[in-house]
Amino acid sequence: MRLANKTAFITGGNSGIGLATARLFVAEGARVVITGRNQATLEAAAKELGPNALPIVADATDIAATERAIKQAVEKFGKLDIVFANAGISASTPVGGTSLETFESVLKTNITAVFFTVQAAAPHLSDGASIILNGSVISVLGNPGYAAYAASKAGVRAMARVMASELSPRGIRVNVVSPGGTSTPIWNRTAPTPEAIAALEARIAKAIPLGRFGKPEQVAKTVLFLASDDASNVQGAEIFVDGGATASP
Ligand code: NDP
Repeated sequence: MRLANKTAFITGGNSGIGLATARLFVAEGARVVITGRNQATLEAAAKELGPNALPIVADATDIAATERAIKQAVEKFGKLDIVFANAGISASTPVGGTSLETFESVLKTNITAVFFTVQAAAPHLSDGASIILNGSVISVLGNPGYAAYAASKAGVRAMARVMASELSPRGIRVNVVSPGGTSTPIWNRTAPTPEAIAALEARIAKAIPLGRFGKPEQVAKTVLFLASDDASNVQGAEIFVDGGATASP
């Protein structure tokens, strides 16, 4: 039980990588608070996770809602030891076709909300706590269509380093997990049918040295490592979980 007696706050814990992480954390002895905007999927996730899960409907882009969720989490479990700022959205539009609204919504969810989640949680974190931010390989790969998303995820990396410096005196670690293409509902808008998803995954897999699309559980295992004492000297780092995509020329 690597997370016995730990309490974790996971944004976007009702789907994909966040839900896979919540499952793993509960299996390792943690209590988890999961947030998202969709009440039905949050409740379904909490039911599956069992009594050690608290679902809270909270839009991460609403700072007051985030502060309320953190307060509720602390009232319920007494403290916070782990924050996984995972909630994120993607948008795939070429530079010339990206509206101000799209650009701003990506940055608001993927950077601003992450920043204010950490700000709201920090006063309640136990000494030695672990914060993990969700980045992306796209912050370094330059894939067409992802300028806003890439900018947001590069910002996550930059923020994490500053937060690591600021929180080090309390022994709090801040690190980034950066997945490559991973099979989750985030791809549903790009590939809305099972056939389209299979074709997309196969196309992306060709550009990955290990030759396969990722699974959310693979990312979750890295988040578990960063959250646990196994990573007690890992600070301000970024771990790519991408089958080698960022390592290939
Ligand atoms: P999903 O679409 O499955 O999950 C996204 C999660 O974010 C959902 O739980 C969603 O919940 C939540 N979310 C989105 N916007 C908000 C918001 N405003 N407030 C609260 N919650 C929100 O995708 P993934 O699991 O793939 O994505 C998780 C993270 O992983 C993201 O940050 C993504 O950028 C990153 N990532 C994913 C990759 C992939 O290939 N899958 C690759 C690289 C990075 P709800 O809809 O209920 O709000």
